[in-house]
Amino acid sequence: VYVLGIETSCDETAAAVVKNGKKILSNVVASQMESHRRFGGVVPEIASRHHVEQITLVIEEAMRQSGVSFADLDAVAVTAGPGLVGALLVGVNAAKALAFAHGLPLIGVHHIAGHIYANQLVAEMKFPLLALVVSGGHTELVYMEGHETFAVIGETRDDAAGEAYDKVARALGLPYPGGPHIDRLAHEGEPVIDLPRAWLEEGSYDFSFSGLKSAVLNALHNAKQRGEEIDVRQMAASFQESVVDVLVTKTVQAAKEYRVRQVLLAGGVAANHGLRAALQDKMKKELPNVELIIPPLSLCTDNAAMIAAAGTVLYQQGKRADLALNANPSLPLV
Ligand code: ATP
Ligand code: MG
Ligand code: FE
Repeated sequence: VYVLGIETSCDETAAAVVKNGKKILSNVVASQMESHRRFGGVVPEIASRHHVEQITLVIEEAMRQSGVSFADLDAVAVTAGPGLVGALLVGVNAAKALAFAHGLPLIGVHHIAGHIYANQLVAEMKFPLLALVVSGGHTELVYMEGHETFAVIGETRDDAAGEAYDKVARALGLPYPGGPHIDRLAHEGEPVIDLPRAWLEEGSYDFSFSGLKSAVLNALHNAKQRGEEIDVRQMAASFQESVVDVLVTKTVQAAKEYRVRQVLLAGGVAANHGLRAALQDKMKKELPNVELIIPPLSLCTDNAAMIAAAGTVLYQQGKRADLALNANPSLPLV
């Protein structure tokens, strides 16, 4: 089964061809990061325009690199939501045009399902499993009893983990997106600054990062007023430790309670070295019989191979969209 995946939910224009939902034949990503950097975040209008400029080139390049022709394809899968509506529409319309022109089935994919299925490109998914989804817009613990069945057992009540990273990075004067910069600096500093951890109610798998973010902003503000310098590396290390501690503790706790066979890491923040190491470490100690899958960095951030992988499962389940498929900026996972 050959599936072309298309992803344009935010600021990367991406297309990929995946075989049997597991083998990447091509995975092309055109990032717009440079265009958004001077605004300190993604500007929706600029994102849409870049997608329009790039989409045809990116799809052609993905097809060329894969060595697969349109006649060999079995389906076209596209991110239908959630994301920026003007950005999503570019991918959805490109996918519809290709599906119509080549007589191919069209599959609408949820962006977060895509992030989770990035793991299927690394190893076979075994159920029941628990996925920790940590990205720019989402922080969720998702329990899966089988393919394409998602139960959200915990989620953020305010900021997403990636959002907190980007806001704190901005306050520290680091370029957008700040996650990778904090990650790098955290390894050069010691976590000596005392910052809060939001554990919430006993037994809750929900998250909250806005208090932590405010604590960092206050500490920076107070230091400035006193005319003191805050060591950016120490602050990065302290912030990262606080985020990672809560994410890893709750994930391992949930994995025990739900008796899962696998734990998967998904989303852009899954690229974080501190998170990857801490989760690996704690699982080895406390859940040595549970398999941990962590995708390579290029499959953690937005890409279309993950959309093709998730789309292949839907295709095999007989799920199809039609040409009325629309972009839904707040598409629910369940
Ligand atoms: P969503 O997937 O929720 O719709 P998104 O697609 O914008 O949001 P992703 O592309 O999955 O998000 O992830 C981007 C986020 O990942 C940004 O917030 C970025 O700072 C963060 N990020 C990337 N690399 C790292 C890292 N090494 N450490 C921490 N955060 C990181
Ligand atoms: Mg992005
Ligand atoms: Fe994403």
